[in-house]
Amino acid sequence: MTDAAAPPCNLLGLTRPELEAYVATLGARPYRARQLLKWIYRRGADQFADMTDLAKDFRAELAGVAEVRVPEIIRASASADGTRKWLLRMPGAATAEQAVETIWIPEPDRGTLCISSQIGCALDCSFCATGRQGFNRNLTAAEIIGQVWLANRELGRDPDGPRLITNVVLMGMGEPLANYRNVLAAIRLLLDDLGYDLSRRRVTLSTSGLVPQIYRLAEDCNVALAVSLHAPNDALRDELVPVNRRHPIAELLAACWHYLERQNGRSVTFEYTLLEGINDQPRQARELAGLLRGHQAKVNLIPFNPFPGTSYRRSPPEVVAQFRDELVRAGVTTTVRRTRGDDIDAACGQLRGRVLDRTVVRLGARPVRAALPA
Ligand code: SAH
Ligand code: SF4
Repeated sequence: MTDAAAPPCNLLGLTRPELEAYVATLGARPYRARQLLKWIYRRGADQFADMTDLAKDFRAELAGVAEVRVPEIIRASASADGTRKWLLRMPGAATAEQAVETIWIPEPDRGTLCISSQIGCALDCSFCATGRQGFNRNLTAAEIIGQVWLANRELGRDPDGPRLITNVVLMGMGEPLANYRNVLAAIRLLLDDLGYDLSRRRVTLSTSGLVPQIYRLAEDCNVALAVSLHAPNDALRDELVPVNRRHPIAELLAACWHYLERQNGRSVTFEYTLLEGINDQPRQARELAGLLRGHQAKVNLIPFNPFPGTSYRRSPPEVVAQFRDELVRAGVTTTVRRTRGDDIDAACGQLRGRVLDRTVVRLGARPVRAALPA
């Protein structure tokens, strides 16, 4: 029985078993759930009336009790290099200004969508604009997968045409493993062959290193893992990525190697944002190589993206090249991330919407918070 006064159930974000259980409550067979999945994700439908192979009375019944509700776009921008960015309104955010961002980066052989998992982030990495704004709330599974749904619509994807989103990276705002349940549901929909049908190698989860959740993930799914390392020793990583104080590097690396073994993965990518004079010296590259040598590990060097109020600076290109060369000489596969979408602030660490920052006064690398004047 359904309660006529109950708010409509949002079908977006329900995994296949959840959708099957839901249609069962309406007396429908499981294949109805499969039809719904195809309509919602493959064909990008949000109106039951359009779902023409569902029985008419079932469509009418769904329209009375359910909906496909996607996040609302506040602003869309397009970069000269083809990168697109959408700012999404999130109901329940603390201020009307609060929003999250989704970014699409086209390349000749792929289209990568960078999605957010939380509004803000509690982990407070010292070089990250999202961390600077503090934590507001977790995104729901609908809000996470809804970013992919919206991007497909905004890019004008023809359901029968080529894919415009070939890869999804959970590297936007937030720490995905701190929103485990909802992120896992969204990943299941990304991988489901009636959902977005992406191969596990084309979905990458980036984490700052929540060790217990990496072990949990190793049991639950097998997407590619990227880990934000940023420092070759605990003393420095404690400063840059404070969660390191809870889960130091040795523990984190043990969890990574476990993940690879359990998931038969190819390698873990270690993200390393180069901060001038802080973590970009050749001896630090050698120390980093010492941690990773002999393991299936890659390093992705990220140019720092400055934001107002930060005292960090981007390492000059020759320092980046030297750091890379040291790693490569030591036998570590290393790539340097190109910056894209600079003209629309679409780079890592700049994903903070129009959220009002907490005022942060910096003393070297150690942040000291001050109250915002009224
Ligand atoms: N919370 C997750 C995923 C989101 S951050 C994580 O930390 O991994 C995505 C990547 O951007 C991380 O590697 C993060 O360290 C990096 N990043 C954050 N701020 C940055 C900045 N200002 N410049 C360059 N990279 C940054
Ligand atoms: Fe959070 Fe990642 Fe930013 Fe750290 S780098 S504050 S974990 S979003």
